[in-house]
Amino acid sequence: MRTQIFSILDFIGFRSSLYLRLLRPGSLVILNFHLCDNLLLSHDDANDFFNWLSLNFITLDLSNSSISLHSQAGSSHKPFLAFTIDDGSYAIHDRLIPFAEKFRFPFLTNIISSTLVDSLTPVSIRFQRLLADSTESQLSSFSIPGYPRYSSFRRRRWILGLQKYMLLRSSESYSELVDSSSPNLCKLLEDYSKCERMLSAHEIRALPSNFSIGNHSFSHLPMNLQTFEFFKNDFLESCNVFAARNIAVQTYAFPFGLSLPEQVSWLFSRGVTNVLLTGNRASSLSESVHSRIDFSASSVSEARFRASAILRR
Ligand SMILES: [Zn+2]
Repeated sequence: MRTQIFSILDFIGFRSSLYLRLLRPGSLVILNFHLCDNLLLSHDDANDFFNWLSLNFITLDLSNSSISLHSQAGSSHKPFLAFTIDDGSYAIHDRLIPFAEKFRFPFLTNIISSTLVDSLTPVSIRFQRLLADSTESQLSSFSIPGYPRYSSFRRRRWILGLQKYMLLRSSESYSELVDSSSPNLCKLLEDYSKCERMLSAHEIRALPSNFSIGNHSFSHLPMNLQTFEFFKNDFLESCNVFAARNIAVQTYAFPFGLSLPEQVSWLFSRGVTNVLLTGNRASSLSESVHSRIDFSASSVSEARFRASAILRR
């Protein structure tokens, strides 16, 4: 149904990229490929999509501290485009690097720095995978204080709701909830520790030259729910991890896109050049705090619509 709707819109004329004219001059569309598995296109379709992007946008490198200079870059009416990839999964080698190399698009890869220390898949990702891979009877056995028992009629909604319920909380509150849940979530999450291979420091340094690296925190916790002290220490620890591995970072992507204004101001006082949130709307070259589009598409038609920043998910 979803695919048919976007195909029909393509058919009635949107294929001509008419909707891109709805973007204001100086608009910057930032597509975020979270873990790469939301690029649900075949290789050929993804190739078509990236080709369409290259024809209709001017691509920018977000790690460049002076992206606003591009706003004077000329008379083109094309909107601007940047790519980010959050978390640092090794899967970018299969899913994105071939296109990045072919089209020479700059990609900003936001790394969770704890993964460079322990090589473990971050808890938030392990939890998502654990739920996605669980059988109906396993999900039915879950007892999470304060969260409704599993209903097979609403599997997807129940899982998404539980992810938010578990992950969007302070570190203390998360630990308490995991401890009081049944079955023992700590044990289950430990068993899923190897479910997603993360990039090593060596692999990051060996990425193609059009890849730059951004800071995606040390702990990957929702920073708007942590104390200011926790946030500062997390950022400084993350900077130390990158510096010790000779990896240059100038940008910061908030985990889950969740931030507080004083945290954003503090980052700029520490030399961060661009701050990345979510929000699923277009940003602009005149901003330093950017909304991004969490990209997901299962057809080329849908991909073009998502990239136009018209639709909010
Ligand atoms: Zn993330």
